[in-house]
Amino acid sequence: IPRVLSGIQPTAESFHLGNYLGALRQWVAMQDTHDAFYCVVDLHAITAGHDPEALVRRRRASAAQLLAIGLDPDRCTLFVQSQVPEHTQLSWVLGAITGFGEASRMTQFKDKSAKQERASVGLFTYPILQAADILLYDTDEVPVGEDQRQHLELTRDLAGRFNKTFGKTFRLPKPHIVKDTAKICDLQDPTAKMSKSNSVPAGIVDLRDTPKAAAKKIRSAVTDTGREIVFDEENKPGIANLLTIFSVLAGVTIPELEARYQGKGYGDFKGDLADVVVEAIAPIARRTEEYLADPAQLDKLLTEGARKARAVATATLADVYDKVGFAQPV
Ligand code: ATP
Ligand code: MG
Repeated sequence: IPRVLSGIQPTAESFHLGNYLGALRQWVAMQDTHDAFYCVVDLHAITAGHDPEALVRRRRASAAQLLAIGLDPDRCTLFVQSQVPEHTQLSWVLGAITGFGEASRMTQFKDKSAKQERASVGLFTYPILQAADILLYDTDEVPVGEDQRQHLELTRDLAGRFNKTFGKTFRLPKPHIVKDTAKICDLQDPTAKMSKSNSVPAGIVDLRDTPKAAAKKIRSAVTDTGREIVFDEENKPGIANLLTIFSVLAGVTIPELEARYQGKGYGDFKGDLADVVVEAIAPIARRTEEYLADPAQLDKLLTEGARKARAVATATLADVYDKVGFAQPV
């Protein structure tokens, strides 16, 4: 049974529709077809500055949302990255075989550092830690959005290089990117991806939004001055994005939607989409609050997940330490 691993950053109080459609829906589906490892990557989340209290709250909010969308700790290993120290340890070893130029080509760093006054070294080495996350678990597939494709390529390069230098150790993971939903766009800037850290609030539908807030964001999404509801990413990126969201959440194809809204206005279309979105997220928001009502239970569940994850991670790290000539951790 193939292994899957993926992670999500606790960088906001809520995940958004882009996270859900691009990655998290696949997480839920893959827990039944794969040996699944999913983590809240809090080590990654401190690379752009953070507040400790918010991090604690967001860690739990993240876990609660993952349970709310349908992850089941009996069918997958759900854990928090910082509870498994092997991630950081392997990251150091991989950093030593990563070229500075190679790391400098990562576009996520370029984008994120351009938006900051003072980018950290941690933000720069982020993709190396991500490679460690994946390689520790002999991962076959990594369900992610399009923005992570380049990091997955780096992960494969590092795995191949390590294997060639020190002997076969790592499995080469493949990205699992669902084309149609690989880049859900910002509602206010449909040329940019919806992002927890970069989008303005009106640009993001959060899974924890109230029905009223979510509906309002859909209705005020930026579209073009035309009238037609057709899928044209080049000339009508706003409408194309809304069609994608509608299609996946309602289980209707885009041509069917185009036919349904022929001769109708953007107002009708957005009104119906608002209903579809609210129907999809309201139960998630409700279940999230239920899980959050018992933080001790959430922490316990995550600690159990970390124990299961460590059983795999310590074995990989022991092999790596042996291969590179380190003494075993005691
Ligand atoms: P941040 O802005 O803090 O980086 P994010 O919204 O990019 O937050 P991440 O935690 O970095 O979210 O990514 C979690 C997962 O969601 C990744 O697999 C990523 O590829 C995917 N993802 C993020 N944004 C989108 C999007 N707009 N469309 C599709 N997938 C996305
Ligand atoms: Mg991101």
